[in-house]
Amino acid sequence: MSVSRETQRGRYISLLRRWGAALNLTATNSASEVALNTLIDDCLCIVPHLPPGLDRLIDLGTGQGFPAIPIAIETGVVLDLVEADRRKAAFLTTTLATLGLRGHVHTSRIEATALPPAECVTARALAPLSALIPLAQPFISATGCGLFLKGASVEAELAQVAARSGLLIERLPTDRPPSCLVKVSALR
Ligand code: SAH
Repeated sequence: MSVSRETQRGRYISLLRRWGAALNLTATNSASEVALNTLIDDCLCIVPHLPPGLDRLIDLGTGQGFPAIPIAIETGVVLDLVEADRRKAAFLTTTLATLGLRGHVHTSRIEATALPPAECVTARALAPLSALIPLAQPFISATGCGLFLKGASVEAELAQVAARSGLLIERLPTDRPPSCLVKVSALR
């Protein structure tokens, strides 16, 4: 029997709160249920910008699951999660199983991970755009895009990557300020 989105979200929040204290997971160990719901909703601003018909998404430096787990709860997309920290990777494996989500956790460094490129690659709080774009590029298919959640530093980060040859780098509007989204795709 499939599990409803509400049930999945509730299970995710209780896992974050239970494991957060034990594993000192960044940002979630002392977060209230309200703060976690806000964080999940911030991540969902990516959903309207996903390529139509997306069947697989790669998330880099997933940590405790953001933004990939909220996106999978909402859309059912299959996940490839790359997270080098073994304890966080174990948390993610448990989360996929407990929520009934489809995907794999790759417990390895991004630079040392080989995966077939996907139509969409996401990341949040991993690195500034100048480092993130070269890290993500090998995972983005020729017709695909990177969708990166950013905060207040976005303008400074965009200025650093203004003239990357062959790439279209766009700031997309969201209804969740100060969260914002940067889309990176090949110039066509
Ligand atoms: N995306 C999550 C976590 C951000 S913290 C969020 O938004 O909350 C960055 C995470 O990336 C950490 O869990 C860290 O272990 C992981 N990480 C950093 N550099 C990495 C690398 N080169 N390869 C794999 N994981 C990496």
